[in-house]
This record gives sequence, structure tokens and C-alpha cells, in this order.
Amino acid sequence: MSSEPVHILGAGLSGLAAATYLANAGREVHVHEIRSDSGARFDGDFQGIENWTSDSDFFDEIREWGFDPEEFKSNGFDVIDLVHPDDEITQPRTSGLAFRVVERGTAGHCIDQGFKRMALDAGAEIHYDTRRDPKDCHIIAAGPKESSAVAFGEIFHTDHPNHVTFQLNDKLAPGAYSYLIIIDGIGLICTCLWRQQKKTSRYLNETIAWYEQHYDLNRRPIKRVGGKGDFSLPDKYVHEGRYYVGEAGGLQDFMWGFGMRYAVTSGVMAAKAVLGECDYESEVRGRLVPLVRASAVNRFLMNRVGNRGFKMVANHWMRDQRKKGDGLVFMRWVYKPGLVRRMLWPVVRLGMLRRKRLADSRMVSRMPFRKALSRDVWEPSARGNEIAEHWDLVRKGGGKTSFSENDA
Ligand SMILES: Cc1cc2nc3c(=O)[nH]c(=O)nc-3n(C[C@H](O)[C@H](O)[C@H](O)COP(=O)(O)OP(=O)(O)OC[C@H]3O[C@@H](n4cnc5c(N)ncnc54)[C@H](O)[C@@H]3O)c2cc1C
Repeated sequence: MSSEPVHILGAGLSGLAAATYLANAGREVHVHEIRSDSGARFDGDFQGIENWTSDSDFFDEIREWGFDPEEFKSNGFDVIDLVHPDDEITQPRTSGLAFRVVERGTAGHCIDQGFKRMALDAGAEIHYDTRRDPKDCHIIAAGPKESSAVAFGEIFHTDHPNHVTFQLNDKLAPGAYSYLIIIDGIGLICTCLWRQQKKTSRYLNETIAWYEQHYDLNRRPIKRVGGKGDFSLPDKYVHEGRYYVGEAGGLQDFMWGFGMRYAVTSGVMAAKAVLGECDYESEVRGRLVPLVRASAVNRFLMNRVGNRGFKMVANHWMRDQRKKGDGLVFMRWVYKPGLVRRMLWPVVRLGMLRRKRLADSRMVSRMPFRKALSRDVWEPSARGNEIAEHWDLVRKGGGKTSFSENDA
């Protein structure tokens, strides 16, 4: 086995997972991060780690790889409110654990900092505020580059107990969904835009107005956050000897953007490949690419429907739960690369993805940020305008916005 130092570009989840695994195996590891800390790409927003793309629980899986999930805060959920496009609220639930909410950012309890501590404890060296030529790295874990979709959210104080709502609504979240997550007195309302819009904050203001109407939030805004997702499938996951992991390798969920599990899993796979324990290209193609393709097929279908289609999905989900006694079975089915999805894949590839050569000469099939539709133009409500004015005051008083439409 080679003993040369391993260089990793990016100290996010995928890069740190790879670094920890390699350092635990005794390798000298250097992680090069352009920002000043792990998690600095995010700003205290909540994200969900899903438990439906594998039969094993994600935490059991990472324990087997040598990680300690106690290093970061997480809250498990077995039930959510599902808001249909006509505002009906139903509750998918499971007897197990559907997902865990973690916080992204630079505070000690965030998942990014938990993974950072594990990498450092294992002996990896992390170089923050540094630039390194990707050509001089073995593993590329630098996250998304371009935007195929964006998410905008507001973080606030609230008296509401812990809770998660997932809303399918083509007006408030064009082509996608919005969500409300409340953990220990802090809430996040976020809207995801799968069609490119001007004046994106009006979608967030209107979404907040919706949630205020339906939940007793007593919302006191703190800051606004957001980020982008890059949905591109590369032709190869090993290029010129470098392993592409996480979102840098296009390992992202085209349907709803649940990319964290793929990031950690691909980071570990790349580390194993460096150690000679597996072939990265075939591991990724065997376990992750079928999931990503299935999610791309789902996204293709979602792009073709509006609220009527979303309502059918929500109804189907609840019918399936009544029949099978568990709401997670539907989510597992949604992400299953079955025969129909496999047959649809060539159509999706041609119809939704565009071929592109990246700066590092990799070829990818990329989902472009879709254009706005005529139905995306609507007048804000009076409450939406009030929320915008109130946020303006909070901002002038020091409330931070860490992501704007210019970053997309
Ligand atoms: C608003 C939002 C909400 C989301 N919600 C969810 C969710 O609920 N569940 C879920 O599973 N996923 C969610 N995701 C997706 C998830 O955050 C990503 O898929 C995941 O973080 C990808 O991990 P990564 O390691 O590939 O990239 P990251 O975790 O982003 O890490 C990449 C790192 O590389 C660094 N970097 C970038 N360029 C360079 C460079 N040139 N040199 C050195 N370092 C560089 C970055 O600063 C960053 O630290 C969400 C994403 C966004 C934006």
C-alpha cells in the first residue's frame, strides 16, 4: 500500500468523511478548504438526513465506518405534517425512524463541526483559507459549482414545540416544496425554487405568511439563509486519477435535494478506494448512481406536473400508508430504481439534461435551472408585504442574509 500523503479538496461532509476514514487507517491526510471553517457554506440551517435510500439506518452505517454520531446534535422524526397543494394537512408516519434533523454551520453542535472533530481526532490536517490546484488533490470534495435550483429560508425564535412540515406547493415553491423545521425553540421556514425567478424573497415572504396562518409560531426573525444545488451526472467518477465525491461528483438527489447521505457515503467509498479496498467507479455505479438516476426520473416527472400532479402524489402517499401501515414504504418506493424508472432513464437523459464540458474537462449531463413559467407571476398578499417590511427592519437592525439571488 502506498504511504504518500492524501490531499483532499474541500472540508465539507464528503471531504471530512474521506479524511477521517483514511486517517483512521493510518494515512497522512491533508484537507484544503477555501473557506475559514467547515460548515461556513451554511449558516445554522436545519437539514434532514434521510433513512429511506437504504435498508440500514444511516447512523448504524456510519458507526460501522468508524464515525461517532454523538459528535453532533441530531433529532429523529417518525412523523411529519404533509401539506397538499390545496392546504389539506395529513401525517405520513413510520414505526421506525424516517429521518434525522441536523444543523449545518460552524457552531460546535453542527454536523459539519462534528465531522471536523472526528477528522482531527483521527489525525487529519485541515488547512482552512487555502487554495490548492485540484490537479494536486486525490479526492475532489468541493461541493456544488453551478445552480440547478436554490433554497431560501428564514431562521427565527419560536415557542412552538419540535416539529417538521413538508409542503408540496407549486406557487410558493415553484416546481418543488417548502418546509418548516422547529428544533428546541429555533424554527426554519424554507422554500425551494426549482424554476429560476426574479425577486426570489417574495416566495419566502409568502411561504412564511402561509405557515403563520396555519401554525401558532410566535415568530421572531433572526436571519435569512439559503444555498444552491448542482444537479449534474458526470460520465466518470474517477477522472485523471482523481475521485469526485459528494456534490462535486454530481451525487445529489435530483428529486428533493437530500444530498448529505450520498456525500458521506461517497467520501467513505473514495477513501476505501485510495486504500485499495474497492474500485470507486464501480462502487458508486453500483450503490449511488441508480438512486441518483431514479431521483432524476422523478424530477423529470415532477417538472411535468403542477399542483394537480402534486396532489396526486400526496394522495397516493397517504393511500399507500393506509394500505401498508407505514408511510416510509412510499418514500422507499419513490427512490427505488425499478424497471419503469430504468426504462424512462434514456428519455430523461435526452429530455431534461444537457451535455456540458466542465473546466476540468469532465463531461457531465447537467440539469439546467429551468425558466420561470407564466403562473409564477402573482401579486404578493398584504401579509407577504408586511413580512417583507418587517424583515427589512430586522436586517437594518443587524439581521444577516447569508445567501442572495446573486449567489445562485
Ligand atoms: C439550503 C439547502 C438545504 C439542503 N437541505 C438538505 C437536506 O435537508 N438534506 C440533505 O441530505 N441535503 C440537503 N442539502 C444538500 C446538502 O447540503 C449537500 O448535498 C451536501 O452538503 C453535499 O456535501 P459535499 O461534501 O458534497 O459539499 P459541502 O458540504 O458543501 O462541502 C464542500 C466544501 O468544499 C469547499 N470548497 C468549495 N470550493 C472549494 C475549492 N475550490 N477549494 C477548497 N474548498 C472548496 C466548500 O467551502 C465546502 O466547505 C441542502 C442544500 C442546501 C443548499
